[in-house]
Amino acid sequence: MNPFTFTQATAVAGAVQDNAAHDNAAYLGGGTNLIDLMKENVAHPTHLIGLKKLGLDTIENLPDGGLRLGALATNADTAYHPEVEKRYPLLNQAILAGASPQLRNMATDGGNLMQRTRCYYFYDLATPCNKREPGSGCSAIGGYTRVHAILGASEHCIATHPSDMCVALAALDTTVRVSGPNGERTIKFEDFHRLPGDQPERDNTLEPGELITGLDLPAKGFEKNFSYLKLRDRTSYAFALVSVAAALELDGNTIKDARLALGGVAHKPWRDKEAEALLIGQPATAETFGRAAAKVLAGAKGQGTNNFKIELAKRAIVRALKQATEMNQAFDANAFQNSNP
Ligand SMILES: Cc1cc2nc3c(=O)[nH]c(=O)nc-3n(C[C@H](O)[C@H](O)[C@H](O)COP(=O)(O)OP(=O)(O)OC[C@H]3O[C@@H](n4cnc5c(N)ncnc54)[C@H](O)[C@@H]3O)c2cc1C
Ligand code: SF4
Repeated sequence: MNPFTFTQATAVAGAVQDNAAHDNAAYLGGGTNLIDLMKENVAHPTHLIGLKKLGLDTIENLPDGGLRLGALATNADTAYHPEVEKRYPLLNQAILAGASPQLRNMATDGGNLMQRTRCYYFYDLATPCNKREPGSGCSAIGGYTRVHAILGASEHCIATHPSDMCVALAALDTTVRVSGPNGERTIKFEDFHRLPGDQPERDNTLEPGELITGLDLPAKGFEKNFSYLKLRDRTSYAFALVSVAAALELDGNTIKDARLALGGVAHKPWRDKEAEALLIGQPATAETFGRAAAKVLAGAKGQGTNNFKIELAKRAIVRALKQATEMNQAFDANAFQNSNP
């Protein structure tokens, strides 16, 4: 690991100033991704700014009926918060599908958005990687691509974003609150993560030195009809090959509103609003779900060893939407709350 200095920030403004005062600084949330990357010499900041004393770890109701998650709230505290369990169970399911209890106790909500890809070549210093070293090439293209993208990739990078939490946040229309050298601003979740294009080293649209301070969930949580379906190589402690966040609002068997986002398939959580439009106003049937799934995957391109993901994703979408529909009859908030470990 490279040598680095450390400051424990006690105020947002101080953290931002400290970042600006150093050439190669990084914020430290729970450290579950950054410290690994530093140990592997993939990331080498020379100054770390600890965030745990900023006090951004609360979860609060908003006047408009939404919910604000502090950027320093842990993934565990967020998943098990009574308001999240009751009003945003899709988010609860997605967080609990990720990592392990120990990691979720350390990992923060802000850090989860910022975690880096799990592309094998990104971690392997012996291989070229445009994300790690811009302009060096992409070893994944033509290589082993089981965990790589089928949507939105570029000739420069075919990596995927590995988060589960972010797939639910995308489906729920979250707003990201940030503070930086030029003040505060908000970013719509769909605009937060980037496709790789010709700048794969940039995972998101944060400006240099900007700090995530919170995540605002709108009032509508789709608490009755939702499903987070994660397909992976083993049933725990593994990243998604494909995951689906499905949320529906039903009137009888008619779909009044729909949200559909995928994980494990692109450089960012993949939300398809055109596919959602195909669901709205339609009966909640396998045929309707199949049409939406076909739309999502219409432009998909396999990379060889991940070609299987296209069919897997189609089937996962249909299954997740079916599960979301069936929850209509089965849902009981108390039973769901009590079933969480
Ligand atoms: C073995 C293992 C398995 C895992 N499995 C899963 C999984 O199945 N699903 C899943 O979704 N995740 C998984 N994870 C990833 C885990 O969720 C992330 O490591 C975690 O969410 C990152 O949060 P953190 O607070 O520890 O971030 P850190 O490691 O502290 O930081 C990560 C990045 O975010 C930046 N950062 C942190 N906080 C802020 C902020 N407030 N503003 C701006 N930048 C910030 C840091 O500078 C750094 O670049 C796994 C991790 C491990 C180690
Ligand atoms: S897919 Fe992206 S992260 Fe992986 S080797 Fe290629 S450039 Fe690097």
